[in-house]
Amino acid sequence: MSDLRAELIRVALSAVASGLMPGVSGNLSCRMDKDGASGFYITPSGMAYEGLTSDDIPWVSLAGEWDSEGRKPSSEWRLHRGLYAKPDVGAVLHAHSPYATALACLNRDIPPFHYMIARFGGDTVRCAPYAPFGSQTLSEYAGEAMRDRTACLLANHGMVVCAHDPAAALLVGQELETLCQHYALACQIGEPTLLSPKDMADALLRFKDYAAGITPPG
Ligand code: 13P
Ligand code: ZN
Repeated sequence: MSDLRAELIRVALSAVASGLMPGVSGNLSCRMDKDGASGFYITPSGMAYEGLTSDDIPWVSLAGEWDSEGRKPSSEWRLHRGLYAKPDVGAVLHAHSPYATALACLNRDIPPFHYMIARFGGDTVRCAPYAPFGSQTLSEYAGEAMRDRTACLLANHGMVVCAHDPAAALLVGQELETLCQHYALACQIGEPTLLSPKDMADALLRFKDYAAGITPPG
């Protein structure tokens, strides 16, 4: 397998191995245009990734259609589709990783307690309000929370990140999970000191040079 679907499976397996996607939670997609139509490959719904082949990976058009003979696409295809509205987004990863999900259950944005918050495009990582999994409302809430950002929390659910390709999306997801772990640990010890708007503006500028590959789309 040397196509984009094989890469999607490889990265999804790495995400599981790194603890980012416990059980069959979470999903991964990458942009792919087919027969002149815009769309994306996405992991199939409710399936373990071990043993998947390219044929198990459904393609979904941005109009929301897929081949009924293949595997059923992830129930979160609307969440992924919404994020492909930004032309720079080439891959989307959604996960129920432990620390991000624990923080998402507080229904709060992550404040600028560490300069790495700027890695995701702003001075907070927003938390989108709760909406049922798989719903169009969840997609809209996430789209709003991802404005000028590469990541957000989904209240009482998990996290979603976007990047230019699947490997970069995995990296962004791992960085967000680590940051959430740091915040949760700091909150257990005391009240984290927040960086000033000036410090965060400076960190944002530095990240523009540091990681051109994952600057926020749109
Ligand atoms: P899928 O197995 O349908 O991708 O759903 C997992 C999930 O995380 C739903 O929010
Ligand atoms: Zn989910």
